[in-house]
Amino acid sequence: NNLTPPNFIKNIITEDLKNGKVDKIVTRFPPEPNGYLHIGHAKAIWINFTLADEFGGRTHLRFDDTNPVKEDIEYVNSIKEDVKWLGFEWEELHFASNYFEEMYNRAVLLIKKGKAYVDDLSADQIRETRGTLTEPGQNSPYRDRSVEENLDLFARMRAGEFKDGEKVLRAKIDMASPNINLRDPVIYRIVHATHHNTGDQWCIYPMYSYAHPLEDAIEGVTHSLCTTEFEDQRPFYDWVIAETEMPNVPRQYEFGRLNLEQTVTSKRKLRMLVDEGIVDGWDDPRMPTISGLRRRGYTPEAIKAFVYEAGISKAYGAIDVKMLEHFVREDLKLKAPRTMAVVDPLKVVITNYPEGQTELLDAENNSENEEMGHRQIPFSREIYIERDDFMEDPPSKYFRLFPGNEVRLKHAYFIKCHDVIKDENGEVTEIHCTYDPETKSGSGFTDRKVKGTIHWVDASAAVPAEFRLYEPLILDEEPEDEGAEEKPFLERINPNSLTIKHGFVEPGMKDAKPHDKFQFFRHGYFNVDPKYSKPGHPVFNLIVSLKSSFQL
Ligand code: ATP
Ligand code: MG
Ligand code: MG
Repeated sequence: NNLTPPNFIKNIITEDLKNGKVDKIVTRFPPEPNGYLHIGHAKAIWINFTLADEFGGRTHLRFDDTNPVKEDIEYVNSIKEDVKWLGFEWEELHFASNYFEEMYNRAVLLIKKGKAYVDDLSADQIRETRGTLTEPGQNSPYRDRSVEENLDLFARMRAGEFKDGEKVLRAKIDMASPNINLRDPVIYRIVHATHHNTGDQWCIYPMYSYAHPLEDAIEGVTHSLCTTEFEDQRPFYDWVIAETEMPNVPRQYEFGRLNLEQTVTSKRKLRMLVDEGIVDGWDDPRMPTISGLRRRGYTPEAIKAFVYEAGISKAYGAIDVKMLEHFVREDLKLKAPRTMAVVDPLKVVITNYPEGQTELLDAENNSENEEMGHRQIPFSREIYIERDDFMEDPPSKYFRLFPGNEVRLKHAYFIKCHDVIKDENGEVTEIHCTYDPETKSGSGFTDRKVKGTIHWVDASAAVPAEFRLYEPLILDEEPEDEGAEEKPFLERINPNSLTIKHGFVEPGMKDAKPHDKFQFFRHGYFNVDPKYSKPGHPVFNLIVSLKSSFQL
């Protein structure tokens, strides 16, 4: 039992099994198919699947599709793909909408027991008469309708006799309850809309807080795990289970949401970014969606190690994005080949190297993982280096290339600059160097040392490549918090969140496949973009830079 760190839910499950309260753990992940999953959902997915797994239980994937207006099959499909990609397998797949008939029948039972009534008040009137934390609510004038009248009206609501908002069904509990959620909450509303699964079969839909406990009970869920904002809903959850006389009694437990600094995880805002065209769809590599993280190059292993470290508690606090980045570096460190890419190229001519000659140099694929073997890289008279690895008038402590200075080319030779070629605007177009054959990498040359080592690619063999460099999408450090932001959301967008560069990679990466991952020497980890890469012309997404001040 060590798939999750020590946590209070694990303690509860252990007790429940010991006392014989349950004999098999059943959990569920219940997304509403109204958007794509994000990093916060990864935590909920991991908790539900891993806790059940730890105790030999099972987990369902259930689409909580009780609101036809915002839901779509596109989201259903993306959610399935994301859960699978994270490495989880559901034992059962369910749609809440398949329980509409049972939910309706249970509502009829509530009416018959005098526990629910049809109300003609408008949504605004219901809100206004709900009271406050210090003042009780007021009973609706329709609260004392007879059972017969309620049964008749509810049947007519279902039959489509009324317009949206004209009537609702409310639970009859207590308008003076200190818990506002128990002040006769609405449990059914009229919505004339086509549902992605049930089509036009229904024009009344159950509210989330009524539907959710029933869904859990119908599926035999034992531990219904959700985030702490639902804590105040728990008494109503228990009320629904008891009053609808469901034979299975699930229990709700709440854990703290996962929030990341400088990261939006509200579906509403994520949708805004997509709809406004600020990002390239839900899977834009800057998005904190699972599909965005995947396209960026994050791995399921890194995401799971991250949520493990974040832990399961009731605590609510924003985590530094650097922690997530730490885990992707950790995961890729020994897996990704370490190759060379020039993002902003400057041509270097090695004037004492024979024209028309090419040699192959040996390069290890991962200096920390010998098992990854070696590759051969071509070297010839013309190469590309990084534009900012050369300065004509360098400040002191600049150890890279400048006139008269010698540097090491990774896996190759020492080169020394003797000439700078410029265009009519004074822009450096080419630099001329000599190389010293004695200094070949691996030859054991030790006669003199240089302070700088730079990367390069052979100009004649290099493969043109596009590099997409990312910065955070959101500018300020404010943790994302519904309703609390000072500046309008769209003004918090970082205008420099994407920079596109055109350069070169080693010839061996010509046929890199979507999602191949590399560590580019001195740059960072990169992923082959599945959308824009073409055979022979790879496009790389920066996953994460190499260095960080982050410490666990
Ligand atoms: P919305 O309210 O717009 O539907 P949501 O984020 O609540 O958005 P759901 O589809 O209802 O989306 O979420 C599915 C499950 O994921 C819920 O159990 C929810 O508690 C959980 N969840 C959502 N966001 C987070 C988060 N940031 N951290 C942990 N769990 C989360
Ligand atoms: Mg929701
Ligand atoms: Mg929510």
